[in-house]
Amino acid sequence: MNEHLPGSDDDWEPNEEAVEWAKQFFAEIGVDGVWSPEGSGVTYVRQDENTFALVRMLDHPTAKSHHARFKKLFDAIGVELLDGDGAVLIPPAISAQENLEREFEHKREIAQNWRCDCELPLAEFDLAKRVDEFIEEKDVLLSNGDTTPIQIWRCCVICPSCEKKVRMDPDDFQLLAGDDLYMRWKDREGGIYKALTRIEICDLTDAGIMGVALGSKLLDTNERVPPWMWGTYCIYRPEVLQDESED
Ligand SMILES: [Zn+2]
Repeated sequence: MNEHLPGSDDDWEPNEEAVEWAKQFFAEIGVDGVWSPEGSGVTYVRQDENTFALVRMLDHPTAKSHHARFKKLFDAIGVELLDGDGAVLIPPAISAQENLEREFEHKREIAQNWRCDCELPLAEFDLAKRVDEFIEEKDVLLSNGDTTPIQIWRCCVICPSCEKKVRMDPDDFQLLAGDDLYMRWKDREGGIYKALTRIEICDLTDAGIMGVALGSKLLDTNERVPPWMWGTYCIYRPEVLQDESED
C-alpha cells in the first residue's frame, strides 16, 4: 500500500492514481468489511455507504500519519474516515512482523464476532457450504484513460438458525473461514474445485492423479469462475462426495 503514499509530510495530497485506487477499493469492500493496509498500523471497519471508522491504531507516529493521509484520500472520493471514539491504541511490538501478525489476528477477531440478524455468530455457520454469486462487472478508470473491468462477487452462506442468506465480501469470508475453505469453489453442478498447494500438486502428480487448472470460465459450460480461483490448480470432486475435512 505504501506506493500510494509518496512523501512523508502532512501536506501530502493524494494523486490521481491513488484516488482511482481508492474508488475501486471502496467499490469492492462490503459494509462491516475490515480494512487494514499491510504495515500501516491502522485498521478500519466500513460502517455504511459512505463511512469508514478507525477501530485500532498502533501508538506510533507512522500509523498516525497513515491515518491522516487515508483521511485525505477517502475524502477525495466522498467517504468519511471517522477517528472512531472507541478506537484502541496499541503499543507497537518490537518487530514489524509481530505488528503484522497482531493486525491480522485483530481482523480475524472482528470477523469471528460478525453476527446474523438472529444473533448467531457467522463463525458458527456451515461455512463449507458457501455458494459464490457473481454480482456484476464494473469498468474502472485507469490513469492513462483506459478502463479495466473488475468482477464483483459475494460469498453466500445460509444461517442454520433463521435460514437467512448472508452475503459477504469475499475478503471477509476469507477472514472468517480461513484460506482452506476460501480457496474452494462449488460449480453449478455442486461439484467442488479445491485449490492445491505446491506440495499437494507435487504429491498428486507423483501419484499419477491429474488435477485441473482454472481459468476465468469453465471450458465446457462457460460458467464464470470467481477471480480468487483464477489460475489455481485444483482437484475436482463431484457433488456426491462430501467434504471430509468438515468436522
Ligand atoms: Zn440467522
